[in-house]
Amino acid sequence: MINTETYKEIIRELGDKVTLVAVSKMRAVNEIMTLYNEGQRDFGENYVQELVAKQAELPADIRWHFIGHLQTNKVKYITPFVYMIHSVDSLKLLKEINKQAATNERVIKCLLQVHIAQEETKYGLDEKELEDITASIPKLPHVSVCGLMGMASTTDNPDQLRMEFKELKSLFDSSGDISSPSSFSTLSMGMSGDYITAIEEGSNMVRIGSLLFGQRSAGTNG
Ligand SMILES: *Cc1c(COP(=O)(O)O)cnc(C)c1O
Repeated sequence: MINTETYKEIIRELGDKVTLVAVSKMRAVNEIMTLYNEGQRDFGENYVQELVAKQAELPADIRWHFIGHLQTNKVKYITPFVYMIHSVDSLKLLKEINKQAATNERVIKCLLQVHIAQEETKYGLDEKELEDITASIPKLPHVSVCGLMGMASTTDNPDQLRMEFKELKSLFDSSGDISSPSSFSTLSMGMSGDYITAIEEGSNMVRIGSLLFGQRSAGTNG
């Protein structure tokens, strides 16, 4: 069961400057509807197939955020409806999104995912790759690159977390003028375990799953 009191508390805590993306991966449609009925409209998903299936069943005014690693050959399945793609980690991917968005006569909001964690396993661009991609943005009219996304290390060390978020914020501040400045305004950082630190360090979009829906038990939650 979802505790809607927790949801309301988080909404109050975030205020009007930070957007909550409720991460609903591996959650059932009825669980999503519980938050929808409380007024939540931004939901985040990690897997293409799962997202496509849920989108077909759920209300059309949900803003779907794709936050997982995205394979180029699967872009076409989500471009008809996806609201924002947080996980752009290569120019090849950004070009494919641009191409599929054009086919759908859309302009799709994208965030560039930057590698800030110490762990090797987390996806994302390094600083040099970020510069290279940013230089190509003007040639891609069907994507609107509106900010950066990052995932911090899985660590209990608050100084480490803070340092990683600071690094992303500083990249965000220095990338803004390269793209179109007015639309480069989203900094997606912070999850259930670290969103308070992320907001203190300048996040304006947090992606929260387990705190809202309870712990994910892999494979059993539909
Ligand atoms: C799963 C996931 C989240 C949410 O994680 P929680 O710890 O459950 O809040 C946020 N961002 C990304 C990219 C994720 O994959």
